[in-house]
Amino acid sequence: MARVYNFSSGPAMQPEWVLKRAKEEMLEYGTSGQSVMEMSHRSADFLAIIESCKNNLRELMDIPDDYEVLFVPGGASLQFSMIPMNLAKNKVQIINTGEWTKKAYIEHKKIVPTEIIASSEKDGFTYIPDVDETMIDPAADYLYICQNNTIYGSRYHQLPPDVIPLVADLSSMILSEPIDVRKYGLLFAGAQKNMGPAGICVVVIKKDLIKKNEELATMLSYYTYATNGSLFNTPPTYTLYICDLVFQWLKTEIGGLQNMKKINEEKAGLLYDFIDQSQLFSNYINKRDRSIMNVTFVTGNPELDKQFIAQAKEKALVNLGGHKTIGGMRASIYNAMPLAGVHALIEFMKEFEVKHG
Ligand code: PMP
Repeated sequence: MARVYNFSSGPAMQPEWVLKRAKEEMLEYGTSGQSVMEMSHRSADFLAIIESCKNNLRELMDIPDDYEVLFVPGGASLQFSMIPMNLAKNKVQIINTGEWTKKAYIEHKKIVPTEIIASSEKDGFTYIPDVDETMIDPAADYLYICQNNTIYGSRYHQLPPDVIPLVADLSSMILSEPIDVRKYGLLFAGAQKNMGPAGICVVVIKKDLIKKNEELATMLSYYTYATNGSLFNTPPTYTLYICDLVFQWLKTEIGGLQNMKKINEEKAGLLYDFIDQSQLFSNYINKRDRSIMNVTFVTGNPELDKQFIAQAKEKALVNLGGHKTIGGMRASIYNAMPLAGVHALIEFMKEFEVKHG
């Protein structure tokens, strides 16, 4: 068996520790006589798994008691609609930093007047625009951001001023470093990058923002998830089980998010340092705003980029192609990407540069 280094933006690599545990428990979970995927979601064994999943996440992220953790199916994209359906009454403000905020904007506009207060679109989304208090309307219900832009490889290093509740998409950075949950009204993230397999979106929401709304479809209301322990219907049980294993790995094998942050900064630092001294490869994101999860780079020649991606694949360095909207290369180096994977990528980039530089 030869496992590849998978630089996909998601679904992404999972820790080997997690995959091995899942393999051991595949035929029989504990003494249940069955696999987790065969269990009733109402069984005592599964109720313990979902409880552990929630508690481990709370502990890792230091989620305060006045916040609820919800597991919502439908992916991160469903939140582009569910958030305004549940939280918007008047208007919403949004900062446009890439394709994922553009998508959120399109869905928001169908539901509530939505205003883009700052955007880096005309500059190819190469930076995070500055926003000051005067740009934020106290009458708006919330300010929406995407904290790490998976496609362009940019991120916020400082959150916008705290005037109205902040709603943030953390899909491609959740659990990569400690954050202060109190700074958010709501944060959400799809599971398939830093948490486990696809199938669930984690929503962390301040309890006082959850309102009963009889007019809203039951499955689209946060109230339903909050009052039923995310078990109103059958959740993706196996996904939640793997997410809990990932949380256990973060706690016991990594030692928490402060350690995870150090490892992630080391991996990204090595890659950016190499790119910055390279004569062939370059990164186009404003240095201050660089992501430590998604590292984008180009040679400046789209044909050469294609050769790089194809030859890297032959060396078991896979999924290095940039998003279809921008091309070039992107190395997604989420929590589970080992340091050795980043070293292997840099070695290959060096070789390629000698041949083509
Ligand atoms: N937001 C961000 C920042 C993403 O990177 C993605 C997926 N790559 C999404 C939202 C959409 O996620 P999903 O496919 O789970 O709807």
